[in-house]
Amino acid sequence: MGDYRQLWTDLGVDLEKHDKLCAVLPELYGDTYLTQENRPEGMNYFNFVVAEVHGLRIQELDEHRRKGGKVIGTFCVFVPDEVILAANAIGVGLCAGSQFWIEDGEKVLPRNMCPLIKAFMGAKVGGTCPYFQSCDMIIGETTCDGKKKAWEVLEDYVPVHVMDLPQMKRAKDYTAWSSEIKDVIAKVEELTGNKVTVDSLKEAIRTANAKRRALKRLYDLRKYKPSPISGLDCLLISQIAFYDDPHRFVEKLNELCDELDERVKNLKDQGKKRLMITGTPMALPNWKLHSIIEGLNAQVVVEETCTGTRYFENEVSEEGETIDDLIKNLADRYLNINCACFTPNTGRIDDIIKYSKEYDVDGVIDFNLSFCHTYAVEHKAVEKALKEKDIPVMHIETDYSTEDAGQIKTRVEAFLEMI
Ligand code: SF4
Ligand code: SF4
Repeated sequence: MGDYRQLWTDLGVDLEKHDKLCAVLPELYGDTYLTQENRPEGMNYFNFVVAEVHGLRIQELDEHRRKGGKVIGTFCVFVPDEVILAANAIGVGLCAGSQFWIEDGEKVLPRNMCPLIKAFMGAKVGGTCPYFQSCDMIIGETTCDGKKKAWEVLEDYVPVHVMDLPQMKRAKDYTAWSSEIKDVIAKVEELTGNKVTVDSLKEAIRTANAKRRALKRLYDLRKYKPSPISGLDCLLISQIAFYDDPHRFVEKLNELCDELDERVKNLKDQGKKRLMITGTPMALPNWKLHSIIEGLNAQVVVEETCTGTRYFENEVSEEGETIDDLIKNLADRYLNINCACFTPNTGRIDDIIKYSKEYDVDGVIDFNLSFCHTYAVEHKAVEKALKEKDIPVMHIETDYSTEDAGQIKTRVEAFLEMI
C-alpha cells in the first residue's frame, strides 16, 4: 500500500491505533485467503482492493470531496443506495466486522450488545476507520433496538439521519416507507446541493440493478457441483460490493464470472458437503465461520444474509415517469427484504427453503451474532421449517473474537459427519 499517512491525518484518523489495525489485517487475509488453492485469476482484483482497503479507495473519496462531492455512510441494506447515487454522492456501507473495534465500542455502549453495533461505534469513537472519517453524513435506520439507540450516541460524532423502518408489511407500511424515502431524498439533496431528478434516479436504479445482476450471476454459478468458487471468495466479493465504485465493481465481477463460466465446463465433484449460511450479516473482515467450514470437507454455496442474497435479490423497477413512481418502485423492492426485524417474517423462511433447493444444499447453518435477539428468536421457526423438509440445521451464536473458534470447529465437524 502507498503512503497515505498525510491523508489519514487530514481525516483525523488516530494514526497510532490505526497502525495496529493495519498490522493485523494483512496477516489475517494472508492466512484466510491466500492459502486457498486454485483460486480464479479474477480474484486478483479483489485481493488488490483488500490490499488498498484504507488507501486507494479513501483517496478516491477524498478527491470526490475536494471537488465538493459528499460521502454518505450506511449500515443496513434497507437504506436505498439509489438515492445517494442520484444526488451524485458516494455511498459506503461501513464495515464493522472486526474485533479490533469492540474495545472502543464498549466505552460508550453496554457490553452485552451485538458486536456489529459495538464495532461500528468503536471505529468512530477511536477514529480508526478512514471510511467513517470520510463520511459527511450517516443514514441510519430503526431496524433493531440496539442500532436505533446507537444513532443517538453516534450523533455526537457525525451528523446522522435516521429512516424509520416499519416492522410489518401491510399496505400502510409501504406508504410509510415511501414517505421515509421522500424524506431521505430531501435530506441528501440538502447535504449535496444536488437535486434528485427522474433522470438521475433512473440512472441510479440502473447502476444499482447492474450490481444486483452481477452478484446474482456469481451466485447462480455457485449452483454448479462443485461450486467453481469458494464461499470465502464470494463472501469477500459481497463485502467489497458495499464500498467499491459500483461501475468498476460490476465490470470486475462480470470478468470473474466470465472466467467461472469456463471453469464450470471442467468441474469434477469431490463430494464436498454443500452448506447454506443464513442469519445475521458478516461485515468485513468477519470471515470466521466460512474459514472454519471451508477448512473442513465442505463448501459454503449460498448465504441468505445481508452480505448475501438479501443484498441483491429483487431488482428495482425502472418503469415510471415521475419521482413518485420511482419512489414507489424503491419502496416496493426494499420493503420486500426479509429481515428478522419484521413481524411476521415468514418470507425469510420461504427464501431459506427455496434456496436450499436451488443451491442443492446438504445442510444449513443459522448464524447468529451474539445478542441479536430478532434472529435468535427466529431460529425456532427456521429450524422447524427445515426439519419438516428433512434438511439438517444447526444454530451457531458467536461474536468476532477467536476464542470460540475451536469449539465451533468441533461442532461443525460433528454436523458434517451427521449429514
Ligand atoms: S440483518 Fe436486518 S438490520 Fe441487519 S443489516 Fe440486515 S436488514 Fe439491516
Ligand atoms: S445483527 Fe441483529 S442486533 Fe446486530 S445490528 Fe443487525 S439486527 Fe441489530
